[in-house]
Amino acid sequence: MPATDFTKELAALIKARFPIIYVVTWEEKRFVDTVKAMIQDTSLFSKPRPVWEWTVVDGFSKNNRVEKGDIKTPMRALEFADELEEDGILILKDLYAQLALPNCEQNVIRKLKDLVWRIKEGDWLKTVIITGHDKFIPDALQKEILIKEFALPTAEEIQQVLVKLVEQNRQNQRLRFDIDSNNTIARLCEAACGLTLNEAENAFALSMVNDGVLNATDVSTIAEEKKQIIHRNGLLEFSMPKLKMEDIGGLENLKKWLEKRAQSWSEQARKYNIPAPRGVLITGLPGCGKSLTAKTVSTSWNVPLLRLDMGAVFSGLVGSSERNMRTVIQTAESMAPCVLWIDEIEKAFSGVGSSGDSGTATRLFGTFLTWMQEKEKFVFVVATANNIDFLPPELMRKGRFDEIFFVDLPTRAERKIIIDIHLKKRLTHPDVIGNLKLDDSFIDPLVERTEGFTGAEIEQVVISGLFEAFSENRAITIDDFITAIENTVPLVVTQSEKIRAIREWANVRAVSATSINHKASNGQAVNNDPKKPDEEASRGGRSIEF
Ligand code: ADP
Repeated sequence: MPATDFTKELAALIKARFPIIYVVTWEEKRFVDTVKAMIQDTSLFSKPRPVWEWTVVDGFSKNNRVEKGDIKTPMRALEFADELEEDGILILKDLYAQLALPNCEQNVIRKLKDLVWRIKEGDWLKTVIITGHDKFIPDALQKEILIKEFALPTAEEIQQVLVKLVEQNRQNQRLRFDIDSNNTIARLCEAACGLTLNEAENAFALSMVNDGVLNATDVSTIAEEKKQIIHRNGLLEFSMPKLKMEDIGGLENLKKWLEKRAQSWSEQARKYNIPAPRGVLITGLPGCGKSLTAKTVSTSWNVPLLRLDMGAVFSGLVGSSERNMRTVIQTAESMAPCVLWIDEIEKAFSGVGSSGDSGTATRLFGTFLTWMQEKEKFVFVVATANNIDFLPPELMRKGRFDEIFFVDLPTRAERKIIIDIHLKKRLTHPDVIGNLKLDDSFIDPLVERTEGFTGAEIEQVVISGLFEAFSENRAITIDDFITAIENTVPLVVTQSEKIRAIREWANVRAVSATSINHKASNGQAVNNDPKKPDEEASRGGRSIEF
């Protein structure tokens, strides 16, 4: 196995004589295999060192041979590590359970502290590695032990498992393999990225057994299986939405900005030395297309969408918040290139720095910001926020997001496109359309009447109109939609104060998602009343064109 970033870093730590390293991973076996391969890699180690494994069941073993003696308790294991008179890497697989105890034995803590110095100053090149699925390190040891995350497997590692699985089953008469064309193996492995090696192997096995064939169609079976597995952790939802940029009415400035960043993880982009974009924060009024945009980015860039439930990360219902954040970052990075959509980000970080925060929110927020700033993998973050009052100011600082956009109520020109999109989407059957022509003379009166409506309200108007016609089993008429409009109390009426405040905020901090084109000139096409004030001019967000 060629050296990876992880093995190179771990080898460097071992050679620099870091005495105790704590590796966070769910994948104990893969980690041990990785260490064993690393130690044989002559580009990393001139001479292989023995690898010891310790569990409470077997005590110590080396090369699958169990060492005799009473070495199954944590204390005895540490004494063994201390007394060992040879070079070696000692992987303690079960020590985490003792360290996780709220009243971890003091003699274990003491022994670990002493071991740090005894190994450092001793004659032998020894490294103790503690593995655990979470960071179980008592406070007293925080400064003594180095922590390292073991990343999820790469597509290449997954490919090794798949190739082995195929080889093992080639002779099986009940299975057929149609994987030699169209990069099928690579695509299957790419589809399994984001899973542990074990999960990936299970997903492959399942898709083989399902219909007795492994072929390109299993890419979607694996993706579906991955969706279920990722969903099970309760933090992320994985999907490949089917929406297109054309499904968004207006927001041309934002769309143009996004389009310029499509493929920015490609080989071609590398020629330009472009840094991977960090992400975008889309703020604005509810129902104006923020979520729609997040979903569309993923489709138009043809990368998976991971929707993050920040509430679940913090809630503690599924594991510790820190571990949850690590899982999210690891999963997202292993699925790169991908879009990580953080819906209503303000809800998660609203407690940052407040008196009610026990420190967790602030700490996690710090982890998140550091990751945003330093991430090298192509994980494009789309954060959406309705309520800007709760956004911590640090989130807005330059260097966090590449741009902050503001999505306002759609202008006339935008409403026209949105109405057209939703009419065309729903009005597909000739019985429902009847003699209607969905041209300007039909749409313009609706545009005129929906001033101040959000995109979601416009969609609702179309749906309500359709219900009118459906309930009377007839074709649709313009009056169905006009009635629906008249029965709607738009957000702008109930929340005008809030809207004014958010626009003022956006004028200073965010770029308008609407293009200048759609703000005035186009809008005038339907503004036939010269006395009517042009409300388009008062839209929030700075007018910068991309
Ligand atoms: P939010 O800004 O609250 O995230 P959404 O994107 O979820 O709003 O919008 C809800 C629905 O309203 C969308 O799924 C879409 O059907 C419709 N909608 C909102 N804005 C637009 C738009 N600009 N173009 C087309 N449809 C829109």
